[in-house]
Amino acid sequence: MRLVVVGAGGRMGRALTRAVTEASGAGVVAAIEREGSELLGQDAGELAGVGTLGVPLTDDPLTAFAGADGVLDFTAPAASLWFAELAAQARIVHVIGTTGWADGEDEPLLAAARHARIIKSGNMSLGVNLLANLVRRAAAALDADFDIEVLEMHHKHKVDAPSGTALLLGEAAAAGRGVDLAEHSVRARDGISDPRRGGDIGFATLRGGSVIGEHSVIFAGEGERIELTHRAEDRQLFARGAVKAALWGFDQKPGFYSMADVLGLTS
Ligand code: NAP
Repeated sequence: MRLVVVGAGGRMGRALTRAVTEASGAGVVAAIEREGSELLGQDAGELAGVGTLGVPLTDDPLTAFAGADGVLDFTAPAASLWFAELAAQARIVHVIGTTGWADGEDEPLLAAARHARIIKSGNMSLGVNLLANLVRRAAAALDADFDIEVLEMHHKHKVDAPSGTALLLGEAAAAGRGVDLAEHSVRARDGISDPRRGGDIGFATLRGGSVIGEHSVIFAGEGERIELTHRAEDRQLFARGAVKAALWGFDQKPGFYSMADVLGLTS
């Protein structure tokens, strides 16, 4: 499968290039960075530490997508929307790991998914998607006397909060409870406030150092507490998941898919 890495100079972009070169059945045919980036012209393989691939970074996604079967995209929401339009025109697979979407900002992706095969997830790892499945089941089994809190920690460079994974886990908890997350989420607490409302799903964010990603979902009841935790130890994990998603998407019809679809965890 001929793959384009967009944001190829970023932390995840470099991890994606490494993951594609390690995968069988896939290769990097183009690498894209933002117009004006000082990385333009550099070799994607050298940037990723896997030796020369003969694929220089360019700022021309239109030409790159025309000669590809899929695109791996861990960039920023505005960029991912633009790449989705181009992926739809080229009728290829678009794997989106980008997080930090504002409410409703990702709606145009549904239109693009009429022509592209879009696989979008705030977390591409098997472990977190399994965790989401377990959270949904736990939330369905426990009544609203159990308070649900999602706690996450990431490296100091991360700009969006709560993380895409924390929101994915919050959505899973809300789905298990049969409620709308937007109406029941508490994303910040500071100073004096009313006591915690029963049924709310709380989020707490920690940032610091080089932490790749840690997430806990806590179900706190009277006199007992259940904690479900995932710790990512290497961002290659997400990159490998993204490549797996692209290879899976190659055989699918146009549509909007999640990592749970790729991993068969939807039931
Ligand atoms: P990063 O190091 O800042 O990389 C993002 C890259 O995208 C940068 O090189 C950036 O270039 C580039 N970019 C932004 N807009 C662009 C455009 N219009 N055209 C081309 N390139 C563009 O960030 P990161 O740590 O790799 O994370 C990237 C995203 O992936 C974040 O949203 C993060 O939360 C998410 N993520 C998701 C998962 C998952 O499993 N779903 C896992 C890890 C991270 P500039 O530096 O020039 O802006």
